[in-house]
Amino acid sequence: VSSGSMIVVSNRLPFVLKRNEATGRLERKASAGGLVTAVAPVVIQGNGLWVGWPGIHLDDPNEPIPESDPNDQTPTAGLLSKKVVAVHVERGMFDSYYNGCCNGTFWPLFHSMPDRAVFSAEHWKNYYKVNQLFAEKTMSALMSLILEQKDSVATPLVWIHDYHLMLAANWVRQAAEEKDMRCKMGFFLHIPFPPWDIFRLFPWADEILQGMLGNDMVGFHIEDYCLNFVDCCQRRLGCRVDRKGMLVEHGGRTVRVRPLPIGIPFDRFVQLAESAPRVMLTTNQKVVLGVDRLDYTKGLVHRLKAFECLLEKYPEHLEKVTLLQISVPSRTDVKEYQDLKEEMDQLVGRINGRFTTYNWSPIRYIYGCVSQDELAAFYRDAAVAFVTPLRDGMNLVAKEFVACQINEPPGVLVVSPFAGAGEMMHEALICNPYEIHQAADVLHRALTMPEDERTLRMNYLRRREKVHDVNYWMKSFLKAMGSLIEEDGDEV
Ligand code: UDP
Repeated sequence: VSSGSMIVVSNRLPFVLKRNEATGRLERKASAGGLVTAVAPVVIQGNGLWVGWPGIHLDDPNEPIPESDPNDQTPTAGLLSKKVVAVHVERGMFDSYYNGCCNGTFWPLFHSMPDRAVFSAEHWKNYYKVNQLFAEKTMSALMSLILEQKDSVATPLVWIHDYHLMLAANWVRQAAEEKDMRCKMGFFLHIPFPPWDIFRLFPWADEILQGMLGNDMVGFHIEDYCLNFVDCCQRRLGCRVDRKGMLVEHGGRTVRVRPLPIGIPFDRFVQLAESAPRVMLTTNQKVVLGVDRLDYTKGLVHRLKAFECLLEKYPEHLEKVTLLQISVPSRTDVKEYQDLKEEMDQLVGRINGRFTTYNWSPIRYIYGCVSQDELAAFYRDAAVAFVTPLRDGMNLVAKEFVACQINEPPGVLVVSPFAGAGEMMHEALICNPYEIHQAADVLHRALTMPEDERTLRMNYLRRREKVHDVNYWMKSFLKAMGSLIEEDGDEV
């Protein structure tokens, strides 16, 4: 995949900086996520830049960013430090912007859980200022890029990511226009976009919409989120919209709105599944697998209760089925997340206390991270992946599971209709996590599904994810921006 020069702007850089206690020097810790794997090579190949927070508060913001370690094999290894623009934000302001506004307000609100959202003018003020700071840094990055590549014919592309940076675009656009610099601007939201009736609860909702409309194209995972956004633009700002063409007119410009469902590095997961050693419990046990950050949007409490209900309603699964739940610690300094951990610990204890026999426990609960190898092995050897978020922008776990299902006959994917993934993975069993009895019935159906039906469903699921992988997503974004360079050198 290739494009002209691209500036990626995201809350975090594609690596974090850590201080080596022994040497006192800063070091890069790379990210292995699928997004970075797909985007970093395009940035590097086009000689672009990456703007983001470096993951550390430095006493001296001018301390240079280190180059990557010579042994670094990760996709960001080729990103030279002169191509990285670190945005330093004072600690208190960052906390208010990130924990306060992003995770305390936008995260629950955009996941349609407004009761959990905190509305604070102070946090909003800091969100605004941090966005301005990101915009300033992006502007200098754009200037240096244009100076360096005077002769390039391709228009530089600025790609802003996610709910942390919904306001930044207009400042960049205005500054670029004043300086007569060409650039295209795109935005992608990695979480859901809520319906109008939820979105309007945010006291500064109009400013968010105006911020997002500062881009030439705004991308979401699925069509529903696009339609919610278009609806909000019409009802709040009075914009003229074209729902069929997904266009919004604003300030004399037409902004394109596009569904761009993200995929996973499919082939990498297949390779991991092929080489990972067996890690499962005992050979004659069926494993129902859950893998999530410990977050209230993931429906973990409902999931455990549905599993308990399965054991009650269908006792034939007693001593034959185990729920393996991996819960990755997340936002551990926020009270809501600490409360959820407490609730989960108690629930696991209660259900295990109720059903455990001398040689079987119904739930294995891991509170921590697992390696990619282990994860691939869990995905491969599980009989069922039980993916039941209450709301989720996409949910990559569902996709990674099907990629790793290389055993014959395969297992079964159960997915919530309230995840973006549930919208497109038509051959999965759909399960509404809010109704515990129904969820138990669906799980029972998955555990007793005939082999030929499992094979048929999984083949379709795998085929779709293989084609629509993360590189396909990257390409679709560039195409939606008119910035994809074909092999003959033309921009499309
Ligand atoms: N994951 C991980 N370590 C773990 C468990 C999961 O890195 O111990 C990864 C997993 O492979 C997946 C991501 O975390 O890529 C979760 O993405 P998803 O879209 O399902 O949910 P999010 O956490 O982004 O809300």
